[in-house]
Amino acid sequence: MTLRKYQIKKKFNKTPEPKGKVEQDNLFRFVVHEHSAQHYHFDFRLELDGVLKSWAVPKGIPKEAKIKRLAVEVEDHPVSYIDFTGIIPKGQYGAGEVKIFDKGNFRLISRTNSQIEFELMGEKIKGNYILIKTKMGNDLNSWLIFKK
Ligand code: MN
Repeated sequence: MTLRKYQIKKKFNKTPEPKGKVEQDNLFRFVVHEHSAQHYHFDFRLELDGVLKSWAVPKGIPKEAKIKRLAVEVEDHPVSYIDFTGIIPKGQYGAGEVKIFDKGNFRLISRTNSQIEFELMGEKIKGNYILIKTKMGNDLNSWLIFKK
C-alpha cells in the first residue's frame, strides 16, 4: 500500500492537507467528506490497509435501500485525512472547502477486489452497504454503492 498518487498530487507547502503516512494499525473508521470543489461531491473513505480507500460519490451515500449511486474510486488518502476539514486553496488539486458530513466506525463484512460489504455506524449514516465495481465502459474506477 502506498500514498504515492496522493502525495504527488498535493503541494504540502500550499495546502493545509496532511502529508500523512501508511499506518500500521487499522481502526476501521470511515468518513464522508462534503467537498465543494469545482464539482460539488462527497468523498467516501474507508480505513483499510493502513490508508483511507476513497471514492468520490457525486450524489452522496444513499440513505434508502436499493438506490444505487455512482462511486468513482480515487487515490488512497492517508488515515490522518479522516479529521481534515478546511479550504484547499485556489489553484491546488481539489481546490475548495472540505467539511465532514459524517464519520464513525464500520464493520467489514466481506471484501474482494470487486466487492466490499460493510456496516456503517455513523451519526447520520447507518446500516449495511455494498460497494461493487462496475464493468461498464472503459472506466476502471467506477463502482456503485447501495444500502442493502
Ligand atoms: Mn473530493
